[in-house]
Amino acid sequence: MAINKKIIVGNWKMNPVSLKEAEKIFSGIAKGFAVLKKTQVIICPPALFLEKLKKVSTKISLGSQDAFWEESGAFTGEISASMLDTLGVRYTIVGHSEQRHKYTDEEINRKVRGCLASGIIPILCVGETERDADHKYLNFVKQQVESALDKVSKNSLAKVIIAYEPIWAIGKTAVREATSAEFLEMSLLIKKVLNDKFGKSATDTVKILYGGSVNTKNALDFLENGKADGLLVGRESLNPAKFTEIIKTSENLNSLKGPNKK
Ligand code: PEP
Repeated sequence: MAINKKIIVGNWKMNPVSLKEAEKIFSGIAKGFAVLKKTQVIICPPALFLEKLKKVSTKISLGSQDAFWEESGAFTGEISASMLDTLGVRYTIVGHSEQRHKYTDEEINRKVRGCLASGIIPILCVGETERDADHKYLNFVKQQVESALDKVSKNSLAKVIIAYEPIWAIGKTAVREATSAEFLEMSLLIKKVLNDKFGKSATDTVKILYGGSVNTKNALDFLENGKADGLLVGRESLNPAKFTEIIKTSENLNSLKGPNKK
């Protein structure tokens, strides 16, 4: 993971239905941009497309949408971080809001540590269901970060990506879009939590992305005014023209700063 690059992640969720379609979207995205200097693109397709998509283009890194903590065994339906590693996949989303109900916070922590032990970079999703008037959501996200990173070493922290995804701003049922100011406030809170737990130099290595209804119109605002280290994109990552526009928005940012110089 290059320290000074923005990270644009596409989460395809359970889309598209066929491999043929997946290859078409993936190559459409890869054709949409030349060599990138300031941006790293990661696409997380359904796991069964990973191996084939790896051969379509090397311009795009691949990620899984989840990974189990045990290496192997009687865990029907699960995919382990070690399996991803043997496939050459370097990233996985962990704790996405559409998965979290299946796992306890302790299990999310085991997933994060399982990934790190296998050399997989977890893209840890955190975010509240709603913004309550009493600001309990601040503590909620704080606890999510703390528990997910329990027993993670300072050195390993550089290999963790955090995506703040307010659940109320995700998907077709979003209450509204989040603002870049709301993201900035939350990323500062997350940094404070990391700072208290791991110290400043370790905290400075962590990238904090924004996710939730990112599109071609608001991407620049989150990157520039929200100072996001990158974006996690759902729906728009399935549209090659729109996703490449988001990638180019990141690549063309004027003053790209290192994660510790924000
Ligand atoms: C997501 O679910 O991770 C996501 C960001 O989705 P969308 O962009 O469609 O809101």
